[in-house]
Amino acid sequence: MSIKIFNFSSISSAEQVLTFLIYSYKMLYMQYVNTILIAKPSREEKIAVLIDYHMHSTYSADGEMTLEEACLRAIEIGIDEIAFTDHIDIDWPDPNINFSIINIEQYLSDITKLAEKYSHQIKIKKGIEIGLQPHVLEENSNIIQSYPFDFVIGSVHIIDRMDPYQGNYYEGKTKEESYRRYYQEIIDLIAIYDDFDVLGHLDYIRRYNPYSYSCEDLTLALDLIDEILKILIDKGKGIEVNTSGYRHISKCPLPSFAIVKRYRELGGEIITLGSDAHRAEYIGYKFKIAVEGIKEAGFKYLTTFQKRKPQFVKI
Ligand SMILES: [Zn+2]
Ligand SMILES: [Zn+2]
Repeated sequence: MSIKIFNFSSISSAEQVLTFLIYSYKMLYMQYVNTILIAKPSREEKIAVLIDYHMHSTYSADGEMTLEEACLRAIEIGIDEIAFTDHIDIDWPDPNINFSIINIEQYLSDITKLAEKYSHQIKIKKGIEIGLQPHVLEENSNIIQSYPFDFVIGSVHIIDRMDPYQGNYYEGKTKEESYRRYYQEIIDLIAIYDDFDVLGHLDYIRRYNPYSYSCEDLTLALDLIDEILKILIDKGKGIEVNTSGYRHISKCPLPSFAIVKRYRELGGEIITLGSDAHRAEYIGYKFKIAVEGIKEAGFKYLTTFQKRKPQFVKI
């Protein structure tokens, strides 16, 4: 998630002005990182089999590409199969943002039309990224079971009604405490919720944390990570390798390859690859290095989904 609408009329105190200035600085810095520091994927990055199973169109509140722009870019860089995974995140704590697709029928119908239009060049799947919070799980299930999705990512973006993208989640917590609280929330949710196929960006907490980065972060709270992975494996669920992590100083995907390897060691078999692109130029971003890392972690296949059933593609 990467959107925040600031209500200027509500800025009435010095504290709010300061918060606004810090927020503006952060946004400018992120824009600098996104546009200047990150090399864009190029044709040289083309590799054998490519799937991109995590991307957001303008059907998401923070998407900046149309469905068709995404298809054309994916075809241009030689991707074989994509899944659109626009957000449904019910009861987002900031009332200024709606992370639920207003018209799911239209969304699915538009994807179906594009899948037919470009059927000779690319496979296009109907996916969704569903936000997990304890009080919305039943509503999530009703939505997932009411529509013919091919693929469902379950993601935790909100913990204790706070978005780690904003600083207040980290207040009063050490670095380790902030990680452990996030992982514990995932455990509590996936232990009781089944309507998803892969867990989204497992160590998402790393993407926005304000603490200095060290290599040990890759396996911080390994006991809880193991518990998450074991629950997923028991339930026949997968994880994704989300390359948006390469935009972070750690320069590794979410989750890190150390966790991907651990998932494999514990018996995990279902792994998808996704860019989490919100703009066309990030589709397929850093996939060559991601596929190499997935292979080194012990996988010979990536997973695709058709009507929620996993299929395996050799890499
Ligand atoms: Zn997400
Ligand atoms: Zn996403």
